[in-house]
Amino acid sequence: MFNIGKTALLNQMILQSPGNAFFKDTSGIYKVVNLNYANYLDRPLEEVIGKTDFELFDALTALALQKADDLAIRNGEEYEIEEADLRTGKTYLSKKIPFYNKKGKPIGVFGISFDITQRKKQEFQLAEAKQKAEDANQAKTVILSSISHDMRTPLNVIDGAASLAEMRVELTPEVQECFAMIRKAIKMLGDMVNRVIDSARIQTNEFKIQKEDICLPEIINDVIEFEKSLIDKPVIINHHYEANEYFYTDRDCMQHIFLNLIGNAVKFTEQGEVTITIKGDEECLKIIVQDTGIGIPEDARERIFEPFERVVRTDRSKYKGYGLGLPTVKKYVEALGGEILLSSIVGEGSTFEVNIRA
Ligand code: ADP
Repeated sequence: MFNIGKTALLNQMILQSPGNAFFKDTSGIYKVVNLNYANYLDRPLEEVIGKTDFELFDALTALALQKADDLAIRNGEEYEIEEADLRTGKTYLSKKIPFYNKKGKPIGVFGISFDITQRKKQEFQLAEAKQKAEDANQAKTVILSSISHDMRTPLNVIDGAASLAEMRVELTPEVQECFAMIRKAIKMLGDMVNRVIDSARIQTNEFKIQKEDICLPEIINDVIEFEKSLIDKPVIINHHYEANEYFYTDRDCMQHIFLNLIGNAVKFTEQGEVTITIKGDEECLKIIVQDTGIGIPEDARERIFEPFERVVRTDRSKYKGYGLGLPTVKKYVEALGGEILLSSIVGEGSTFEVNIRA
């Protein structure tokens, strides 16, 4: 609450204020206005003093202005409002501050407004661009997902036919090797297809958390065995399990978190180690996936959690993917009320840490 003792000081303040500034008494009569405000009204200063909003604006605008002043006085505290000027189409950010005499009786309102039309326009354009990018990503996700769905059937046919041929024919070691290669390729392709379909489902929010007591070592071992079967470079996977065997959480989420983080760690490591550490109790779980791979530059550490964002733009044949893994992990971790942290040194490796609660 502002108590007014020095009127001259307030007058001076208003006259020298940036933006449009004024002081109105409790009857809504302008007592002081600065030159900006008079210019805004397109009138000389003297013509504004002594008038009310009803003499200066159309009835609708005057009513809205009066309402804002009344609110500030009634509430006894400063009041901030975005005001649209119907006359000029501009938007103003206005602050109304009620003033009181020494006895605490209201004597008027000091107001100041700034033209924020440009800022609002930029905010709108930014929001529009963001929405467009999100829509485009959603469309890409849906297309990718349907292509992946369509790939499942021929993949199953190749898989079935390969198994049949392998069983029926007497194989030379050379042909046996060929079949091993076919199996590995089918496994890799199948894994990629499944990941894309699952990521798309999650990006379009088609998932529900269903918690139950799950046996974590079982899930981790399955994922590790699967990843090991695909490794064709000098990379070893270690893991340290220092948590309770059972944890109350969502099985699908955990599977995806492990698959994506461990899969990435292996993918982006040419040689060395991937180390998985699990710590925690029945309340909290900490998953740390550390690698000795290519690392992630600092300026990319935030954006790689957005759909289709990848650091590796070249060398796509070496580092396959679509940039949907980490956004999926992030969605799952957030759905579980947890957080994901990343630290990395380019050329030395990366560490992803996930913390979730039961
Ligand atoms: P994808 O692996 O399919 O490209 P992700 O969303 O899982 O998609 O990852 C996004 C990007 O983040 C990757 O393309 C890569 O540039 C970077 N990245 C993720 N994990 C690692 C890692 N362990 N080491 C280095 N870079 C990584």
